[in-house]
Amino acid sequence: MQTFTVKTRSRVEMLDITSRVADAVRAEGVDEGLAVIFVPHTTAGVTINENADPDVTRDILAETSKIVPFDDAYHHSEGNSAAHIKSCLFGPSLTVLVSGGRPVLGTWQAIYFCEFDGPRTRQVHVRAQ
Ligand code: ZN
Repeated sequence: MQTFTVKTRSRVEMLDITSRVADAVRAEGVDEGLAVIFVPHTTAGVTINENADPDVTRDILAETSKIVPFDDAYHHSEGNSAAHIKSCLFGPSLTVLVSGGRPVLGTWQAIYFCEFDGPRTRQVHVRAQ
């Protein structure tokens, strides 16, 4: 398993980690197979979406904050229930195909680390086989 660190700079943020995942897959030494990308956090997630127009990730973050507002009648005393809920919506892991030693992605796709309770230092695990 490969692990790399991500430093987020905002409360909510989508960071393109495609090249770092590709590096991790290469380090796993798998030419054809599958890779699992897993974030060991309860207030973050991982997803695949458009890499061309930065307004797409801006819209995703803005609209999910409307669906799950930062402040509401939450019970969790830590004050970050919105981040926990968004983590559930996006999920902690992805599985991608690996071919030619690289993750298989569409032209407009990137792998994003999704921060919902930043800024923090986070980890991403990658295992290919
Ligand atoms: Zn919490």
